[in-house]
Amino acid sequence: MIELTGVSKVYPGGVRALRDVSLTIGERELMAIVGPSGSGKSTMLHVLGTLDRPSSGRVTIDGYDVSRLSDRQLSALRATRIGFVFQQFHLAPGVSALDNVADGLLYSGIGLGERRRRATVALERVGLGHRIDHEPHELSGGERQRVAIARAVVGEPPVLLADEPTGNLDSSSGAGVMKLLRELHAAGTTVVIITHDREIAAALPRQVHMRDGEVVGDDVTDEVAAVGVPLEGARP
Ligand code: ADP
Ligand code: MG
Repeated sequence: MIELTGVSKVYPGGVRALRDVSLTIGERELMAIVGPSGSGKSTMLHVLGTLDRPSSGRVTIDGYDVSRLSDRQLSALRATRIGFVFQQFHLAPGVSALDNVADGLLYSGIGLGERRRRATVALERVGLGHRIDHEPHELSGGERQRVAIARAVVGEPPVLLADEPTGNLDSSSGAGVMKLLRELHAAGTTVVIITHDREIAAALPRQVHMRDGEVVGDDVTDEVAAVGVPLEGARP
């Protein structure tokens, strides 16, 4: 689904945030990218999600070599393949949950009525069917993150990338968000969760460990759940 080959990322100023990273993420995986603050996790998410281009190395999404695509083609690839969830939710203030989620379909060419209908379904799916008219400031942190997840999946992307999705939440709302991400995985989405929390990572079937911009470990603890990892006989 997503493949990085020998990817490095050097920021202006000279910080090498990724060093020669190679990683394959298969279809229908559920995995963590885990490491301490500053180890390059967010940079990895930006490169995996084509929000940022690598300084060197190759990124392919669904077989497309990202370096061969124009910005416009890349945006189209991203819009149809990848949903994003961030620690800070990134919802539009003063806009209802319904329209925050409907905006996830802005670039799909679908009309407003149908966007809102699909947004309603997505909000029901995350357990917020009773909150569609609420604005972000009228929702709890856990509810805001569930709205953000609904927005990320309303276009039914095959991949969901989440950067510290529980980082701003208390432990019970965080557990609710993790449960929801697991449900989305069970329904067929590849889910990549970036976290500095080793406990969260350990509960997922695959953990990619990062340190100082390098992948220093790639552990599969549940072969059946990490179905994207092609192990003989592990596929359903
Ligand atoms: P993590 O998400 O694991 O905390 P990041 O990917 O955010 O790590 O950062 C990795 C390294 O790159 C850090 O040293 C950070 O300071 C640096 N960095 C991140 N973003 C930028 C940027 N836009 N410009 C320059 N340096 C950056
Ligand atoms: Mg980060």
